Amino acid sequence: MSSIFSKIVKGEIPSYKIAETKDFYAFLDINPLAKGHTLVIPKKEVDYLFDLKDDEYAGLQLFAKKVALAIKEVIPCTRIGVAVIGLEVPHAHIHLVPINGMGDLNFANPKLIIDAAEMKLISENIAKAFQNYL
Ligand code: AMP
Repeated sequence: MSSIFSKIVKGEIPSYKIAETKDFYAFLDINPLAKGHTLVIPKKEVDYLFDLKDDEYAGLQLFAKKVALAIKEVIPCTRIGVAVIGLEVPHAHIHLVPINGMGDLNFANPKLIIDAAEMKLISENIAKAFQNYL
């Protein structure tokens, strides 16, 4: 059975898309810790990040770097925090979270409720900024 993220990649489930290449896909986390909280995934369905082949892993990290730079252009923040959890969705993903302090990357924090119009706007703005990193 396809993972929920594979369904997103195939367009079977909607997402606030930020960027896509042949091998990778980035979209807003639906339960964000911060505005601009983004997930970066390989299109290939692998559960555990560290089971990716070296070239796949390196490619994903380089893609994540470009997405992080784009997020930083759009969302006022000190840094883009990076986290790998993977306890909920068995499809490898990297969390990119705009942060201003250490506590902002605590996944036990309450998630933000952002309406669809704002999520769409955030994703469109980051997607536009991403074009500078192609
Ligand atoms: P984890 O596997 O623990 O890293 O958590 C999975 C993350 O995926 C959580 O932050 C969820 O909010 C996020 N998530 C789950 N389903 C979706 C979805 N359909 N669209 C965007 N993000 C999602």
